[in-house]
Amino acid sequence: MKQSQFVCKLAYNCDMSIQEANLLDTASAEKLLRSHGIYPTAQRLSIARVLFAEHQHVTAEQLHDKLKNNGTTLSIATVYNAINLFVEKELLKEIFVDNGRTFFDSNNTHHHHCYNVDNGELIDVTDQLASHIDFSLLPKGTRVESVDIVVRVTNQ
Ligand SMILES: [Zn+2]
Repeated sequence: MKQSQFVCKLAYNCDMSIQEANLLDTASAEKLLRSHGIYPTAQRLSIARVLFAEHQHVTAEQLHDKLKNNGTTLSIATVYNAINLFVEKELLKEIFVDNGRTFFDSNNTHHHHCYNVDNGELIDVTDQLASHIDFSLLPKGTRVESVDIVVRVTNQ
């Protein structure tokens, strides 16, 4: 095999891996955005197709990299603008794990999380966790508005 053919084959394989990436179809992404009152611009659609293809927890930087791997190069500011709008419209959940580290959760239903500080991974945990909290210990004259638990763990 001549070297030029070998280079072509490699490039072809790279294209295949891009096509195989998990993406929500454009029609579903558009429907999802419109159902939350979000105008589906081309950039927002690109972001939504990657973000809502599966249940995932990503930082803005991780999402930016995923988009890039799918052949969509957007500025980090554009990614932030879109996801902040998705959060504002309650399509996306924002989860603060510690100083300067915020995750975005494509599952917008109420649930709790576990953050592994060793590997930086955020995962869902059972709602039963909240049932063990003694709310009678809260200050008098207050009531629970919401409970969002993030348990920080390290590997044993
Ligand atoms: Zn979650």
